[in-house]
Amino acid sequence: MSEITSLTLTELVKNIKEKKLSSTEITKAFVERSQKSKELNTYITEDFSSAIEKAQKFDDKPNFDLKLPGIPIAVKDLFCTNGVRTTAGSKILNNFIPTYESTVTQNIWQQGAILLGKLNCDEFAMGSSNETSFFGNVQNPIDKNLVPGGSSGGSASALAANLTPVTIGTDTGGSIRQPASFTGTVGLKPTYGSCSRYGIVAFASSLDQAGPMSKNVKDCALLLEVMSSYDKKDSTSIDFNRSKYSLELNNNIKGKKIGIPKEYRVDDMPIEIEELWKKGIEHVKECGAELVDISLPHTNYALPTYYIVAPAEASSNLARYDGVKYGFRSHGENLIDMYEKTRSEGFGDEVKRRIMIGTYVLSSGYYDAYYLKAQKVRRLIKNDFDVVFNQVEAILTPSTPSSAFKIGEKTNDPISMYLNDIFTVPINLAGLPGISIPAGFDKNDYPLGLQIIGKAFDEQNILNIAYSIEEKINFKNKITDWWIK
Ligand code: GLN
Repeated sequence: MSEITSLTLTELVKNIKEKKLSSTEITKAFVERSQKSKELNTYITEDFSSAIEKAQKFDDKPNFDLKLPGIPIAVKDLFCTNGVRTTAGSKILNNFIPTYESTVTQNIWQQGAILLGKLNCDEFAMGSSNETSFFGNVQNPIDKNLVPGGSSGGSASALAANLTPVTIGTDTGGSIRQPASFTGTVGLKPTYGSCSRYGIVAFASSLDQAGPMSKNVKDCALLLEVMSSYDKKDSTSIDFNRSKYSLELNNNIKGKKIGIPKEYRVDDMPIEIEELWKKGIEHVKECGAELVDISLPHTNYALPTYYIVAPAEASSNLARYDGVKYGFRSHGENLIDMYEKTRSEGFGDEVKRRIMIGTYVLSSGYYDAYYLKAQKVRRLIKNDFDVVFNQVEAILTPSTPSSAFKIGEKTNDPISMYLNDIFTVPINLAGLPGISIPAGFDKNDYPLGLQIIGKAFDEQNILNIAYSIEEKINFKNKITDWWIK
């Protein structure tokens, strides 16, 4: 058998059910590889000994009816895990140990998964490169000098490096799809309301969604099936009929109408991305889909709208970190002084930038000009999709306007960092599902992703389209294990 850690989730589950591998063997294999991979800096908190104990317990009394029987999984450090430190990549939560579990992680443990540890991410999920984390940047296993993307950078890196068979991330403006694209992995951002936000450290509540990240589409479907649930504890959770995504997965997309939006052909887009997109179009055509040229006229406004709405919500959500209720507290002469010192020492620069933008656009003098306007534009962006989805069943675009960039390349230029999200943010603003799948390489052999966007609640459809493209492309990540000495 090939090395345990390079098996897919589906293969691991099969091996466990057929008793060819035990949970302990599998868990130990991932723990050992993770221990040899410290240089990548993917973990913020390791939970290895407890993981092995849980695996042994599972093997003593196995339950093969579960969907993730005894499977070890590391998760983004934005999900609250009962009794295990949860930092959101921030100094201000450096010592925070939740006394409750997020619904999404609860769902995966209930199906037999075992926590391996908590993975690095941009501070409060604000970033596109994992460089805003208080715990340092993460390396991309593709190449030492590359960022893994962000904010779910630790998750994407750990997954691509075979330190976890699958992982879960969150996506507010692209944080699952962009790192998936940068690391040659699959990442899906579900419809807003599909996965509960309960117990996830909040960034921008009207945009945040948890989603699966995996090595292939089948694993992605299985993990989504387990993660997604209606949850009374989240008032924006939606009670809809969830498909059994992994069981209903198929590659028959004959006759499906797929839209190609002209606005996603941006200036200065590298020729490789253009070619990748063309290749994707050819593939879906060969599978019998019908391509339709479409227009999403307000696409250009998505990025500025996002960078008003997201910071506005963030500034409000982050007001709770005052040194009284959670985590880090600095010493102050009096209460106000303590608040000020705690927040100024506890938050990093990017988070402070967002808080300042957010409070500015919400301030009484500027509310109408910025925040209210942005909300109106958000509606126009959503309307664009509503119109287009009368003509087509899905939309095919590149996932990002470039391949992974170098560590440090964009840290001093927030605007160019923000531009990275140009293809991903419109989907969050409209609440729609989107999946990124690895589809090719640039001239340096860095992976590139294609994005498929669906109607609300139509995850099955985008998974099926992704599945058929995946079959055609047969993508193989080029990773040399350079970090293992
Ligand atoms: N890169 C985007 C930002 O910094 C998106 C982050 C996310 O999806 N969490 O806001």
